[in-house]
Amino acid sequence: MFEKGNGTKLSTEYVEKIAKRLGLDLAALLKQVADEELKTATPPIVSVGFCPEPECPSNTAYAVAGRTFHKVTLQKGRYCAFCGEVLEPRCPACGSVLNEGACCSNCGAPYVK
Ligand SMILES: [Zn+2]
Ligand SMILES: [Zn+2]
Repeated sequence: MFEKGNGTKLSTEYVEKIAKRLGLDLAALLKQVADEELKTATPPIVSVGFCPEPECPSNTAYAVAGRTFHKVTLQKGRYCAFCGEVLEPRCPACGSVLNEGACCSNCGAPYVK
């Protein structure tokens, strides 16, 4: 049995001591592990974006209360298949992941102006 006391704290100190002895930077190692976990957690991204050109046929214009919106089509790849424009992969206003429709559901900004 362990003696009374905080076993977790002791073992952390022990690990730190060993790391120091081995000349390892524990903080850097932990960051490396976290980075690797992040990498494996996110699958390879197939770039998806919308065409920022208001007159492009991939964007469907409609009006709400006198304001014109453009419902975007999310396209795979880097360039618009309709007009060759560079696709926007994220919300131009806040950088959020794109959603269906005409406006960002995170910040409310219209995608196409
Ligand atoms: Zn286009
Ligand atoms: Zn946004």
